[in-house]
Amino acid sequence: MSEDIKYGNRRSKTMSHREIRKNPFTGEYIIYSEARQVRPNRKKDFCPLCSGSPEVPEFRESVRIPNKFPALDAEGDTRKFSSGKFQIKMGSYGKCEIVVYTDNHNAKFIDLSTEEIFQIFNSWMEATKELSIDNNIKYILPFENYGEDVGATLIHPHGQIYAFPMIPNMIQKEFDSIKKYREKEKSCMVCNYIVEEQEKEERIVFQDNNLIAFVPYFARYAYDVFVYPKRHVNFLHQCTKSETNSFISIIKQTIISLNDIFEKNISYSLSLHQSPLNTQGSNMFHLYFKIHTPQRNIKSLKLLGAVETSTMTYINGMLPETAASRLREKMS
Ligand SMILES: [Zn+2]
Ligand SMILES: [Zn+2]
Repeated sequence: MSEDIKYGNRRSKTMSHREIRKNPFTGEYIIYSEARQVRPNRKKDFCPLCSGSPEVPEFRESVRIPNKFPALDAEGDTRKFSSGKFQIKMGSYGKCEIVVYTDNHNAKFIDLSTEEIFQIFNSWMEATKELSIDNNIKYILPFENYGEDVGATLIHPHGQIYAFPMIPNMIQKEFDSIKKYREKEKSCMVCNYIVEEQEKEERIVFQDNNLIAFVPYFARYAYDVFVYPKRHVNFLHQCTKSETNSFISIIKQTIISLNDIFEKNISYSLSLHQSPLNTQGSNMFHLYFKIHTPQRNIKSLKLLGAVETSTMTYINGMLPETAASRLREKMS
């Protein structure tokens, strides 16, 4: 931590609104972003993502635009500070972008053609390549929150990209395990795990020559689907066209199958977990997509209760094998 400097009582305008603190007990980072609380009341029918709006003057394929209410700050500080042994924080430097999927306000991700979704994937690949040049960026997360139940506030089909100045908590834990395993076994933990899921078969939702989708042995939610390339790939832009097309098809089909199971357009989170950036050992990471819905049965959602929020130990009402078999039935 040689670049760290002592942080006294000095508070810049940016720091008072956004900062990232570290829990010294768990190693977990928490992003504070007071600016996000202040969102404008928009006119009822105004959509900032429809073409012709100030944000999207003209739609061409998929469009990346800066998030107007970012959790991380493109002008933010990149330094780490400490104001006590246990009070460690860093500036909120980072980038948050919106990816507008289509000009069609009422469409959904699953309504889009393979070519249209390819353009979205392309935006994620371009963003990763572009942002990774910046040494202060350690992780890029492309994701989509769809539906009210996962907090989406805009209807217009869109996803987001967060570029973090640190490796987010869950990814750091995965990365540590992968590195430790590699040191001991001299092979990729994920590649080996995929083989084990293939042998067991019961949690597989779908597979082709390129990819495999399953509800993992340790799923947190009833329907928690992980999609891995069978080849060891660190970043989406290293995927072949054929692998990318397989991802598009499997992800689309998984969401359609979930809608079928719950007989409605379910809310879901889709995220791409790729390798950390500008970090030693990043070629050890094996990328995957994660799709989960908080929907646990037709009537109710899985809400996080005291056990989950106070201990981060999840209670899941359905075994992954059951969820996988239900999904398998619906996959065409
Ligand atoms: Zn719109
Ligand atoms: Zn691997």
